[in-house]
Amino acid sequence: MTETPRSPQFDDIYFSVEDGLAESRYVFLEKNNLPDSWQGRDRFVIAETGFGTGLNFLCTWTKFEETTSPSQHLYYYSFEKFPISAQNIRSYLEHWSSEFRGRLERLVDLYPLCIGGWHTVRVSSKVTLILIFDDVNRAIPEISCPIDCWLLDGHAPAKNPDMWSEIVFHHIGRLSKKGTRLATFTAAGFVRRGLESAGFSIHKDRGFGRKRDMITGVFRHDSNRHIFSLQSTPQKIAIIGGGLAGACLAYVLQNYRKDITVFERSGLASGGSGNIRGLYNPRITAHRGPEADLYSVGFSLAYKLFQTISQESDISFIPSGTLHIINDETKEKRYLSFCKTWGWHENHARIINSGEASGVASVDLSYPALYLPDAGSVSPVQLVNHLTKDVGRVLKNIGVIIPETDGWVVEGEKFDAVILANGYDVLKFEQTAFLPLQQIRGQVTHIKTDLVYQNLDINLCYGGYASLAQNGEAVIGSTFQNWISDLALRTDDDNENIAKLHAIAPSITREIKVTGGRAGFRCAAKDRAPVIGRVSGFHNLYLSTAHGSHGILSSLIGAYYLAGKICRQPSILPSSVETYLSPNRFHK
Ligand code: SAM
Repeated sequence: MTETPRSPQFDDIYFSVEDGLAESRYVFLEKNNLPDSWQGRDRFVIAETGFGTGLNFLCTWTKFEETTSPSQHLYYYSFEKFPISAQNIRSYLEHWSSEFRGRLERLVDLYPLCIGGWHTVRVSSKVTLILIFDDVNRAIPEISCPIDCWLLDGHAPAKNPDMWSEIVFHHIGRLSKKGTRLATFTAAGFVRRGLESAGFSIHKDRGFGRKRDMITGVFRHDSNRHIFSLQSTPQKIAIIGGGLAGACLAYVLQNYRKDITVFERSGLASGGSGNIRGLYNPRITAHRGPEADLYSVGFSLAYKLFQTISQESDISFIPSGTLHIINDETKEKRYLSFCKTWGWHENHARIINSGEASGVASVDLSYPALYLPDAGSVSPVQLVNHLTKDVGRVLKNIGVIIPETDGWVVEGEKFDAVILANGYDVLKFEQTAFLPLQQIRGQVTHIKTDLVYQNLDINLCYGGYASLAQNGEAVIGSTFQNWISDLALRTDDDNENIAKLHAIAPSITREIKVTGGRAGFRCAAKDRAPVIGRVSGFHNLYLSTAHGSHGILSSLIGAYYLAGKICRQPSILPSSVETYLSPNRFHK
């Protein structure tokens, strides 16, 4: 057996040196009355403080699948401020791998990038892990879903009092309901008292191995604040719009076994999602707020999904890395602050000087840059086609949607729910005409590159962007014009795109030849945030629009979020992000 892993931050072990697996099963399963507590429950929700190596999760996941029927589902929220890498998880737990029957390997495969945020990992058709890479004190107030069972596994309270704070105890109480259980390896007095005052009856029990005591608890208050809606979920769903937003929704909702029809006026990916190459990048802000929490998880999700689907299809996905050039002071401050506050491990985001940037790019650059090694590009057109390939029907026309009891009529056919995912055209529907949206024209330029440009092996962002060359061709872009309302290609725009690139990398722009281009409209809301959620005042009417310039990420994470909401599942996003996205933010 290998040595028990220790946390470098707390100089404490992740699990018992005697037998971590047996400890996990004893303290967190047996003493939490599992599996008995989840018997007969369609949905069971667990929350864990301290994901660590994922040992508790693997034990719980395995036991859940061994003891429940196919229709039961486990949601497992787990907080982790200092994520361990997937490789370390594998090496720490490898010797128990046979106990988990393939699940350790699957967890390692699906494990998100070590960047801050709420990462949803659907590890199987029965188990969803919401892995929250954040300080528990910051994240726990953002949970909105009632919890059936708590696994309290922060390090020893004396070594890590932050994990056992008043805030944490308060929210454990807020999220619990009559019968909610908890178990923890510690029996420290202040932990017991904190949990008692949060509403639990606490019992001392025999600890594992050489530990004398541990505690368990049962929530004693009756509360009806947490009754989950048990109304039936829509089965037959119309998605209006066949761009990225609609395609991502179709893809995710099919995983929920919904009957999907996509309505698209002019062909899949014919609007803003029609470019041959799209860079996926977070919208970088200085501080960690809802934007950060949205785009970080969108980034990890996109990276992992594109990796998977490019292995099983011929989708062009190039995770070559991206340099965000620092060519002014404002950007310098913003990117430095981003690196400090967003919770991305330096393997995934760091500032490098111009020499390193030139080395990474293989062309001369005279600016430092923020380096995102996992960023890259994908073909949005191919992506849309792939994500919709199993959709039963893609219908051409859409005029109006008519509300009916328990649903909607679209083009003469009855649906249980409608999702408007057609960009700016959502304004054509009277139900959503109130949204403050605008169209922003963007023209990209297709270029033939010279040999120097062809050395470039990373994408560049600098206000504009340049993709690396493929077969001698590259895409540079994109203009940003909210005052132009036609899509005819403009030579001035090509010149502007080339001039911007020239300003930061003159060596690769000497022999550029324009070979073509494409103009499209982005749709953006007045406040620049996407609009994703339920439209209030209407039954089963939803929106996913206003994805702006970062639509690859927001369409994808938005689809996972909205699909869960439509299917009345526990939320995969912090409540502040839900508010940030909500269409109702425009109702005063
Ligand atoms: N349950 C884990 C397992 O199965 O491997 C072991 C958890 S370990 C004892 C405690 C974990 O809590 C560590 O991974 C540590 O990084 C994490 N942690 C400590 N303080 C935290 C905080 N304030 N917020 C979130 N996680 C924290």
